[in-house]
Amino acid sequence: MLSVDLLAVVAIAASTAWPVPSHAWATFAVLAGCAALHLHCSRWIERIRRDHSHLPHVDLCSIWIVAGAIVLPPALAVALVVLMYAHRWWVVGRWDASRPPHRNIFTTSMMVLATLAASTVAGVTGLRDHLSGHRPEGLLDLVGLLGAGTAQWLVNTALVATVILLTVRPRSVKDAIGSSSDNLLEAGQLAMGSFVALAVAWWPGFAVPMVVAAVALHRTVLIHQLELAARTDAKTGLLNAEAWHLQARLELDRTRRQPPGATVGLFMIDVDHFKDINDTHGHQIGDAVLRRIAAALAGVVRRGDAVGRFGGEEFAVLLPSTKREEALTIAERMRRQVHQVVADDGDGGTVDGLTVSIGIAVWPDVAEDTLEGLLAAADAALYEAKRQGRDQVQVAGRHRRVRWMPAARSETQ
Ligand code: GH3
Ligand code: MG
Ligand code: MG
Repeated sequence: MLSVDLLAVVAIAASTAWPVPSHAWATFAVLAGCAALHLHCSRWIERIRRDHSHLPHVDLCSIWIVAGAIVLPPALAVALVVLMYAHRWWVVGRWDASRPPHRNIFTTSMMVLATLAASTVAGVTGLRDHLSGHRPEGLLDLVGLLGAGTAQWLVNTALVATVILLTVRPRSVKDAIGSSSDNLLEAGQLAMGSFVALAVAWWPGFAVPMVVAAVALHRTVLIHQLELAARTDAKTGLLNAEAWHLQARLELDRTRRQPPGATVGLFMIDVDHFKDINDTHGHQIGDAVLRRIAAALAGVVRRGDAVGRFGGEEFAVLLPSTKREEALTIAERMRRQVHQVVADDGDGGTVDGLTVSIGIAVWPDVAEDTLEGLLAAADAALYEAKRQGRDQVQVAGRHRRVRWMPAARSETQ
């Protein structure tokens, strides 16, 4: 982080080598004003986001920053970045303990470097000169615009991904680069920023209507994030019980309307002797273990399968169009994957040797037509797995639920 900060300071110093023509100041003032207005009008969005602290912070500052990078001389483009991030910190970040000052400085430094990359492309391709002289070159300038946006995205993403890879250690580089919807949002901002650049080159005041678009987009992103959060289990990132039920019910209804032969599989999964982990290592380590197990389970399923946390250390998986044998194969793979899970025990050691028991019910193999019936069948199979020694998979038979239930329940009582 410090090296990026240092590099940004050097870059800021270097950016002053380019002259600042007097007409650029008006554009700078308008862009800074629009950005401030955007931040001011969307401060309530940031407050809501802060109250749901697990929602990732999304700032739409790139709209103004890339516009500045394209039309302003490097020194003013950088000044716009610093001003915007200082304002953002003042408006929304000051009270946010999860964003300590050094992180804000680092984010600003990253943005300074990304902006100078975009600025360089706009300078080298002649885009900035063409725009300031009102002599657009058509295709060549389109290449310049796309190039500037790409440079901004590349430098920013590379720096963010490097930090994530070094600190959080995600499962893959793809996870560090961000989801496709994150990147689409970023691309959308860069496209909007390019249009702001074209507009302000014509006349600075044309940037003002984009404030409305920016606030509207900001609000839409928040609603999307809240929708997602309402479906997600905060501890594990899996579907929560409600969302899982909704999805499972829809899928079962869909399957039942299909011609004979359509199937749907359902797993109930319970971590074995989880209480011992809490008792030995404490609840926080227990939570970390739970997250690792959730990630292991989610890593095994196919696209379209739904993994949910039912509460506690119980998980449910819905597998559309899955027959008994396939379900068994996937469940076995999950069981073996959990054997590989290792978590820090908080004392320099590790927690391992984790196991799960899995109960499977496949519709229409079990004589149950409702989701509740299927869940009960899978639950009975799970209890049978526990009864038979844990760390295993059991499949509910056609009428077995009735036979298993009393034995399984009495064993746990
Ligand atoms: P088995 O299922 O093999 O019979 O044994 P178990 O010890 O896992 O059984 P039980 O279901 O009785 O215990 C579950 C424990 O999980 C009890 C509770 O303290 C713990 N637990 C439930 N939810 C959470 C959670 O969110 N975090 C942590 N750390 N522990 C949880
Ligand atoms: Mg358990
Ligand atoms: Mg349990």
